[in-house]
Amino acid sequence: MNLAFITHPSCMEHRMGEHHPECPERLNAIGDRMIACGIEMLLTHYDAPAASREQLEMVHDGDYVQHIIDSAPSDDSIAWVDGGDTGMNRHTLTAALHSAGAVILGVDLVMSDRHHAAFCSIRPPGHHAGRRSGGGFCLFNNVAIGAAHALVHHGLERVAIIDFDVHHGNGTEEIFRGDERVLFCSSFQHPYFPGSGADTTTPNILNLPLPRLTDGAAFKAAIEQAWLPRLDAFAPELIMISAGFDGHIEDDMAHFNLREADFGWLTRELHQLAVRHAGERVVSCLEGGYTLSALGRCVSTHLDELIGHV
Ligand SMILES: [Zn+2]
Repeated sequence: MNLAFITHPSCMEHRMGEHHPECPERLNAIGDRMIACGIEMLLTHYDAPAASREQLEMVHDGDYVQHIIDSAPSDDSIAWVDGGDTGMNRHTLTAALHSAGAVILGVDLVMSDRHHAAFCSIRPPGHHAGRRSGGGFCLFNNVAIGAAHALVHHGLERVAIIDFDVHHGNGTEEIFRGDERVLFCSSFQHPYFPGSGADTTTPNILNLPLPRLTDGAAFKAAIEQAWLPRLDAFAPELIMISAGFDGHIEDDMAHFNLREADFGWLTRELHQLAVRHAGERVVSCLEGGYTLSALGRCVSTHLDELIGHV
């Protein structure tokens, strides 16, 4: 079955200045690679709808949503949210709404069995956004909004979120900490930005802090030991992925030594987990990944495994 590939033109219009690493060219690199490696033929493309305010407020406080709406510039300036590293141009609010909406559509497509898996090629990313805070290039927590939609509107009781971005998914953890319907697994370089996650002891949060220079063998061993048995025992009805590829050895954003095959291995494990427990349903959302060539190669490997050959 084809994989749903969801994006929106506004995701190409959100820009935070000339030299910002979280740039529109990232999505071009992914699209170009899909064509070059032949995966394009196995994709069905969808335009993402905009998330509604009600959908955003499943995980964000209303005051925070209003703050983001009010922060959007109407001219050619860039507004830096809360003085941080996350900027908004005149197109950013639209892109953020459609990025969240992409994940909601992905959940709807897999829950209606129109596709077994969906990939959301979206920006701004989301996993650093908490209930009432943005940051780390994130405004709305796309994967959390999708997971909440699966719980609230599809009536699921167990959703697993696996976040293999090189940075801790602090926003997603904050949103679901203590919510036993969600098992959140986040691997990340530690100590490193955003500095959180190493001390969490809440049972539904499986954080995996790993040292700089972690390579594929160490990554695999840690995940096999810390995550895979717990994920099998949890028996998720839906698997969601915060797919960040900034742990690649060629990525300058952090200091892991992972390669395409390592992301491929984990994706294969998650796909098999989905086959065993979740009717093969997986929704994956782009988070980080800033070296364009490596990002394209990583996403093509990731999608190849999500398409599955069972
Ligand atoms: Zn990251």
